[in-house]
Amino acid sequence: MSENLNVLLSTQYIIEQALTKLGYSAAMVDLLKEPMRVLTVRIPIRMDDDTVKVFTGYRAQHNDAVGPTKGGVRFHPDVNEDEVKALSIWMSLKCGIVDLPYGGGKGGIICDPRQMSFRELERLSRGYVRAISQLVGPSKDIPAPDVMTNSQIMAWMMDEYSRIREFDSPGFITGKPIVLGGSHGRETATAKGVTIMIDQALKKRNIPLQGARVVIQGFGNAGSYLAKFMHDAGAKVIGISDVYGGLYRPEGLDIDDLLDRRDSFGTVTKLFKDTMTNKELLEQECDILVPAAIENQITEENAARIRAPIIVEAANGPTTLEATRILTERGVLLVPDVLASAGGVVVSYFEWVQNNQGYYWTEAEVHARLQEMMEKGFENVYNVHMTRNVDMRLAAYMVGVRKMAEAARFRGWV
Ligand code: NAD
Repeated sequence: MSENLNVLLSTQYIIEQALTKLGYSAAMVDLLKEPMRVLTVRIPIRMDDDTVKVFTGYRAQHNDAVGPTKGGVRFHPDVNEDEVKALSIWMSLKCGIVDLPYGGGKGGIICDPRQMSFRELERLSRGYVRAISQLVGPSKDIPAPDVMTNSQIMAWMMDEYSRIREFDSPGFITGKPIVLGGSHGRETATAKGVTIMIDQALKKRNIPLQGARVVIQGFGNAGSYLAKFMHDAGAKVIGISDVYGGLYRPEGLDIDDLLDRRDSFGTVTKLFKDTMTNKELLEQECDILVPAAIENQITEENAARIRAPIIVEAANGPTTLEATRILTERGVLLVPDVLASAGGVVVSYFEWVQNNQGYYWTEAEVHARLQEMMEKGFENVYNVHMTRNVDMRLAAYMVGVRKMAEAARFRGWV
């Protein structure tokens, strides 16, 4: 079974458990375990050498009972339909947990941006928007950045959509540059949200933030900003890693120096000799472990050796279902991905609201509102975890799926 199908099947398994625990029917499970729409597109692009290459792209819309769908577009060679489907379901859950008026969506193109020129990337971004334009829009489905897409790509996509519709449409996409209607705080939103989750989890375990020892796997957009926020808040970041390996210093790492020296792909450990493997890093003693890199890092094989009492999942899908069970039995407080990494979509929502109003907020306003929504999300999930005696992941799914199911019920769909 492919890893992506596996991710989709485990997501569907927990959705079913969550809806059953909440008392919904089999028909509701049937409706919500798959996206309502998945579009596959073929995009012919003239490359710089004058040849034509045809790219495959996807857009999945999980469920629009609550409101328009929302979610990023990923550019990566490994993009495939099952992955896009699973990611669209996770987006629905994130939106439900932090109570946004959206359902989940996700898109992707099979390509390798590292092998493409700036102009080829522009043509591909515009071609993708032309291919999906009937399905998307500011009150239908709102894309955003994801793996290997950025504010420049969002700007091209917004421009293309505005040309097709013949009016300026900043609310079509989020994660734009500030001058095109982007929001302050969008770039650091995921890491800020994770910081708020760490704070909440530490309070539940009566561990002070000052001096708390943090290990972060991954030093990209999410991991590196998080390291900086943790360091600035007085925590001790004792471990970080990238695709090449991990750095572990019990006395604390010099985060500003590492940030200065990391490259644009989030790698820095190659500059050091005394590194360890990612696998070893995850098992080091610390107060908080944050997987912020890729999927399936904590599994049945290593879960018993993880020594952190708190795990906060900045990455999507870093812990398998079996590992979640082992960690929960051991009393580890696990803040699951669909809650922990929701900061990005919260500030995307703020960007869309600001675009719709034509009135822009300060960074301080964005942070204050993000803090409030993330704290509320944590409290709701934690309460379900305690009162219904379910693990934090199932609790998060129960909170995340409820609004969508209620909206579908009121609409008379099920
Ligand atoms: P990124 O590409 O900026 O950084 C990824 C980091 O992980 C890099 O340091 C890279 O070297 C490291 N890495 C890659 N492969 C690895 C491997 N096999 N082992 C160990 N490390 C590896 O990505 P990002 O935007 O920081 O996203 C990281 C995770 O967080 C992903 O799972 C992503 O889906 C999730 N996430 C990110 C955001 C966001 O706003 N950036 C939002 C929600 C979720």
